[in-house]
Amino acid sequence: QNYKSVALIVGVTGIVGSSLAQVLTLPDTPNGPWKVYGVARRPRPSWFAKTPLQYIQLDVSNTQETISKLSLLTDITHVFYVSWIGSEDCELNAVMFKNILDSVIPNSPNLQHISLQTGSKHYFGIFEEGSQIKPHESPFVEDVPRLPVQNFYHDLEDILYEETSKHGLTWSVHRPALVFGFSPCSMMNIVSTLSVYAVICKHENKPLVYPGSKGSWNCYVDCVDADLIAEHHIWATVDPKAKNQVLNCTNGDVFKWKHIWKALAEEFGLEMIGYIEGKEQESMAELMKDKDSVWYEIVKKHNLVPTKLKEIAAFWFADIAFSAVDLGHSLLRWTGSCYGDFEHPGTDLCFRHDDKDESQNPA
Ligand code: NAD
Repeated sequence: QNYKSVALIVGVTGIVGSSLAQVLTLPDTPNGPWKVYGVARRPRPSWFAKTPLQYIQLDVSNTQETISKLSLLTDITHVFYVSWIGSEDCELNAVMFKNILDSVIPNSPNLQHISLQTGSKHYFGIFEEGSQIKPHESPFVEDVPRLPVQNFYHDLEDILYEETSKHGLTWSVHRPALVFGFSPCSMMNIVSTLSVYAVICKHENKPLVYPGSKGSWNCYVDCVDADLIAEHHIWATVDPKAKNQVLNCTNGDVFKWKHIWKALAEEFGLEMIGYIEGKEQESMAELMKDKDSVWYEIVKKHNLVPTKLKEIAAFWFADIAFSAVDLGHSLLRWTGSCYGDFEHPGTDLCFRHDDKDESQNPA
């Protein structure tokens, strides 16, 4: 086939990476037909077997491995970087991105554009430091100054700006709100996390109890559909007006967690118990910490694709989403407004996936 464009998606099994792979391989996608290479750390998952792409299993934090596998590719025209190491470590995240650019730029003479995904943490600080940093006021606009906190997003942006200007390439930075998507291999998938929580409640014949704070129950939140952010990345490769810009991305409408809670309870046929006045936030990570064997039973009973609970649910992430304090003014457009006031529920906020575990249990 004669391809017009050739994509390298870094993080192809992730929440946006998997959507990008789906959208890029559609016949009517702009700048197409696209040939797609996809990089991820684990072996190709079975649910991803039919997507027409060349899958490259690779640990991008390993410089030698990245150079040896990616320098063989000489036809890449666009890089979509939708990955992170699974912790907010600036050095490790920067090494990963630099390894990709150092492998691709010298070897792909037709390279045009690098698309980098960061997120709205740019506006309210990183998870660990959230409580100490005064966030930007919402609604967030792209050109506010950086917050005075170490954030791996800054490192990635600096690398992007330096490398693209040195080599005459175009770039775009995409800052999505909370992403709603389908990947079972994402380290931060709020929809699968809440669905798994509901399934466990159902299995144990318990009601769906809201564990979050009063503020999070009542405040407005926004999100972005994974397919929409995928299209946003692709749009920036096509429209000259979108190039060399930082772009927020959100669905544009808002919801409250109480709405999601009702929908979840209905979907799984559960009694719903919403926020109870005066109740402190309970950590979902804590509530779910001994449920590995319950999840195992559920997987067996319903003949599901085998997964470990920690692979498919990020309860630490739900704890952050549900930790907003009562802001007193809930007509806000961005999740960041809620996230700005963390009440750390005493969980580890950052996880690095255990490589050893992952290779033993490829999802
Ligand atoms: P994800 O966790 O869904 O997927 C990560 C992908 O990167 C996976 O394919 C994984 O295999 C791959 N990966 C991780 N480490 C690797 C390594 N060492 N070598 C090779 N591949 C590796 O990712 P995501 O949630 O889309 O996150 C991407 C960016 O988007 C991050 O900066 C994140 O902060 C940001 N973001 C995420 C959300 C969200 O709700 N998930 C919201 C806003 C912003």
